[in-house]
Amino acid sequence: MKFSVSDAQKRAGDFFPILIQEELEPDDYAGRRIVFMKPAYIEGSYTFDGKAFHVSAEAEVAYETECARCTKKFVETLQFPINETFVRDIAWSEDDDSYSYTSEQIDLRQAFYDNLYLHLPIISLCKSDCKGLCPKCGRDLNEGACDCQSDYSGPFGALKTLLNENKEV
Ligand SMILES: [Zn+2]
Ligand SMILES: [Zn+2]
Repeated sequence: MKFSVSDAQKRAGDFFPILIQEELEPDDYAGRRIVFMKPAYIEGSYTFDGKAFHVSAEAEVAYETECARCTKKFVETLQFPINETFVRDIAWSEDDDSYSYTSEQIDLRQAFYDNLYLHLPIISLCKSDCKGLCPKCGRDLNEGACDCQSDYSGPFGALKTLLNENKEV
C-alpha cells in the first residue's frame, strides 16, 4: 500500500489520485480471524499542504464471517473511509491524529487497518431478517419452521398464560 509522493511534494495544493488493489493475508483482530476473500480496493486522492499530506479515500474489503444468528459462514463486504494526515518522520507517540511517512513514500497500511477495525461490525448477519436457529432443536429457521415452534413460549408466553387465566375467571 505504498506510493511515491515526490511529485506531490513539489506541487503543494494539487490533488493526486490513489488507486490501490492489494491481496491481503489473513489478520487477527480482537480474537477474531479475518480471512479476506478478495483484494482490498482503495480509491481516493492525496494532497500536500506544504507541511503534511492529506489522504482522502474509500476502501472496500470482503471477508469471510459467521452469522451471529444462524452461524452460517458467508462473505461480508465492508466499505469504509480513510481520511488521514501524514507528517514526515514523526514518532508515533508525538501526535495521535497523524501518521508518519519517511523520505518520499507514504505507506497506507497502518491507516488502512486502523480504519478497517474501527468500522468492522461487532456482529454480522447473513441477511438483515435472518431467522436464526431454534433455541430448542437448533434447526435453521430460514429453511422452515420446526415442530417446537408451537410450544416455544418466547416473550409472549407469559402474556398468553395471563389471558387464559383471565378467561377462566
Ligand atoms: Zn443467518
Ligand atoms: Zn425447534
